Amino acid sequence: MEGLRRAHALGITAMEIEWVQNVPGDPQRMKEIRKVAGELTMHLTVHAPYYVNLNSPERAKLAASKQRVLKALAMGQLAGVTSVCVHAAFYLKDDAETAFSNVRRAVEDILEKRRKLFPDVNLALETMGKTAQFGTMEEVLRISREFDLYPCVDPAHLHARTNGAMNSHAEWNAMFDQYAAALGEKALTRMHLHFSGIAYGPKGEKKHLPLRESDAQWKDFLRVLKDRKIGGVCVCESPLLEKDTLLMQNAFASF
Ligand SMILES: [Zn+2]
Repeated sequence: MEGLRRAHALGITAMEIEWVQNVPGDPQRMKEIRKVAGELTMHLTVHAPYYVNLNSPERAKLAASKQRVLKALAMGQLAGVTSVCVHAAFYLKDDAETAFSNVRRAVEDILEKRRKLFPDVNLALETMGKTAQFGTMEEVLRISREFDLYPCVDPAHLHARTNGAMNSHAEWNAMFDQYAAALGEKALTRMHLHFSGIAYGPKGEKKHLPLRESDAQWKDFLRVLKDRKIGGVCVCESPLLEKDTLLMQNAFASF
């Protein structure tokens, strides 16, 4: 709650709640978050726990992974968030197509509880930065399209995953074209985006970096968002969280 108020005082208008270690279980607290966010007109999203692998060959790990995602969605519903992003899986020893069908099946299982537990919350599979991780743009769009969801698009991850591509007007425009082709033009008005600087190599992401210490052409990215009237929320995932959030927000407003 203090985090929300502090962000609001700084002029930040959207926030991702980081339930990356675990998901709190107190419904009363969720209602308080909803109330405070409502008062501050703060747009909320959630980041689900990192300890998830929807492609785990181990039954217990798979079940626990699905449970963690489900809990984040259900608590997110109570807290009034619009979308919950998830690092869906690692390929491990599987080829991409086998991993895909395993993740797809797990998502289908999770969505069985959608109507009852999280009717207003989107399950956003995230585009991932390491080549060992499930989460190319094609993969997350394919599942999202089938189940009427939308993914969490992290262009920094895609930049890292491609070892340096996806860092220009033309590439981001192609990315949004691809997104619209899969989910419809209107889907561009309610996106869940992440952005940050990033360090990478042949295997993709090494770590997130502050915008100004990275090669990210972040102003160009904001320009594309503005020109295409992309809507929804863009969460800054820089290590300099507040500073870079405001840097992006102020630059965006100045165009
Ligand atoms: Zn993430």
